[in-house]
Amino acid sequence: MSEAGEVLFGESPEYVRVSLAAAITLGLCRGRFFRETKLYCLNLLLTYNDGCVGRCAYCGLSRSRSSGWSWSARSFIRVDWPVVPLADVVRRVAEGACPHVERACVSMITHRRAREDTLKVVEAVREVIDEISALISPTIVDRDWLWSAKSAGVDKVGVAVDAATPELFEKLRGRGVKGPHKWEKYWKTVEESVDVFGAFNVGIHLIVGLGETEREAVQTIQAAYDMGALTHLFSFFPEAGSLLESMPQPPIGSYRRVQLARYLINKGISRFEDMEFDERGRITGFGVTDSVYEKVVESGLPFMTSGCSSKNRENACNRPFSDFTPYQAYIGEMRNYPFKPGREDVEIIKLQLRDYSDTPVKVWVREVAAIDE
Ligand code: SF4
Repeated sequence: MSEAGEVLFGESPEYVRVSLAAAITLGLCRGRFFRETKLYCLNLLLTYNDGCVGRCAYCGLSRSRSSGWSWSARSFIRVDWPVVPLADVVRRVAEGACPHVERACVSMITHRRAREDTLKVVEAVREVIDEISALISPTIVDRDWLWSAKSAGVDKVGVAVDAATPELFEKLRGRGVKGPHKWEKYWKTVEESVDVFGAFNVGIHLIVGLGETEREAVQTIQAAYDMGALTHLFSFFPEAGSLLESMPQPPIGSYRRVQLARYLINKGISRFEDMEFDERGRITGFGVTDSVYEKVVESGLPFMTSGCSSKNRENACNRPFSDFTPYQAYIGEMRNYPFKPGREDVEIIKLQLRDYSDTPVKVWVREVAAIDE
């Protein structure tokens, strides 16, 4: 316990937080995955009792959050992130608890010890997993540190830009919340990361639904691609106690269209300049022929979780249930499929792509059943 009576947990580098999916995969928690999903990337997060200095309006770990919980007891995004000894993670992987896992991701938080501790955690995990991503905090890293991360064994880097425009970034992560992060520094770090790790070994995280238009999201995806960075998409999810706890998720139609545009851009099939938008900035044309549109949508691939790849998988970081609830999965609103969508899923997705309503959540399973009748 701290002097203030707060329960204290172990800290990094000896301890890390693991996503609930990683904890289940490692056998550290009991649980089963919906539709027999498998997790191919273990997501680990540094942990400190005094937490992250960031104040991002949408984040479960933020200092702007109004919950009375200690930092270590807070959730990151949507699900629990239990604190566990790093040695247990390494030992379980070494003992063969999850032979299908191909990648691990070590996420920094904005904390004075995180630069050094990230390297220590990467070195320990590298003993048992070959491919390691680092989700870095640009506010506390520089080019020299990126080279150190590469030497420690990091092969891919993620930069959580999150907000699609400088105005939203400033409002939700910067001055608007008295937070330390700066838009220019984030993009400078993307550029430096591409130099150090090579083109397309860098990904930006982008959260859809923070107040941007579809057009703005797609423009940012194109800008990242032109710099040599892929985009890994997330659907906004209102974290209880965060400043945005009562903001709805983006309408599924909107999310699906941005997912498709991201895929087309990141595969070099289309570009932002070739796409069409209505007066509200919603995508009305993807800059491809009808047959390309159909082929790509039917493949289901654009709607899988977008994340760092591994040698054998395009979407090794598949983060099951990180931005939607089991109820949403049940009614046909699995925002990011952690596996290749099946035939019935694709039928639902096709309807969703054409949905321009502002309804945040709808029951889709019935709509498809009605068409089938
Ligand atoms: S996409 Fe996944 S593995 Fe890659 S940096 Fe982001 S969280 Fe980590």
